[in-house]
Amino acid sequence: MQIITDVKEMREIVEGIKQSGQSIGFVPTMGYLHFGHLALITAARKQNNMVAASIFVNPAQFGPEEDFERYPRDVEADSIKAKSAGVDLLFCPKIEDIYGAGYATYVETEGLSEQLCGKSRPGHFRGVCTVVLKLFNIVQPKRAYFGQKDAQQFIILKRMTLDLNLDIEMICLPIVREADGLAMSSRNIYLTEQERRKATVLNCSLNEAKQLYDAGERNAQALLEVVEKKLLKVKEGRLDYAELVDLTHLLPITKIDKPALLALAMYFGQTRLIDNVILQ
Ligand code: AMP
Repeated sequence: MQIITDVKEMREIVEGIKQSGQSIGFVPTMGYLHFGHLALITAARKQNNMVAASIFVNPAQFGPEEDFERYPRDVEADSIKAKSAGVDLLFCPKIEDIYGAGYATYVETEGLSEQLCGKSRPGHFRGVCTVVLKLFNIVQPKRAYFGQKDAQQFIILKRMTLDLNLDIEMICLPIVREADGLAMSSRNIYLTEQERRKATVLNCSLNEAKQLYDAGERNAQALLEVVEKKLLKVKEGRLDYAELVDLTHLLPITKIDKPALLALAMYFGQTRLIDNVILQ
C-alpha cells in the first residue's frame, strides 16, 4: 500500500493506473477507521482492480461550533487497518492543497442539503459535496463506496454525480453496528460510559418502528410517536430530530406507500449521533 499526501503525485499514479486500463474503487473517509469503513474497502476490493481510500478531516463540513479540532485522528493505526483490508492507495491530502489561498468554489445540492441534518448543520453538505467532488476529480474512480449510516449524504452525493454528469457508480452499503446495535462511528469515542450505554436507544427505537412497519403499520405519525416516546425517555440524550421522509426529496411523508427513510439525530452530551433505517 502506498501512502500519498501530495495531490500531484496522486494524479500521476492515477494516470498510470487508468492508462493500463485498470478500474479504481474509491472509499472517501475522515479516518479513525472502524469496521464500517473497512466493509466499504472490502467491497471495493472485490469489484475493482485498484482500491483507493482517502483520509481527510474536511474543515468545510464542520460548523464553527463543531468538533473539527478535536475530531479523532490516528493515521498510523488507520494505515495498518487500511492495508490489511486491501487498500492500494491511501490518499491523505494536506488541507492547504485542498483549500489553497483564495479558495472560493463550493458545490451545493439545493433543497436536499437543507433537510434532516442540514437543519441543524447549515453548510455541512455544501462542505461534503465540495470535498467529494474534489476527491473524485483527483482519484477518478470508476466506483465510489459509501455507508447507509450517512443516508442523507449518500442521497445528496448521488444527486450531485447525476447533476454534474460524473461517470462514477455510486454504491451504498449497509450500516455496520457494534454487538449491542449502536451504529459504528468515529465519534462514539467521545461518549462517556453511561452515554455509550444509553446510545443504544437509537437502534432500539428504529427496530421497534421496523417491527411495527413489518406488522403492517404505514402511518408515519404512528411510527414516529413510538420512536420519539422511546428517545425522549432518555435523560442523558437530547433529540435533534426523528423524521420519516421519502428517498428522493427527503421530505416528510404522512403515509408510507413506497420505500422511506426513518432517520434520527440525537445529542449525548456534546456528541451528536445519527442512525436510520429504510422501511420497505
Ligand atoms: P466518515 O469517516 O465518518 O466520513 O465516513 C466515511 C464513510 O464511511 C461514509 O460513507 C460513511 O457513511 C461510512 N460509514 C461510517 N460509519 C459507518 C457504519 N457504521 N457502517 C457503514 N458505513 C459507515
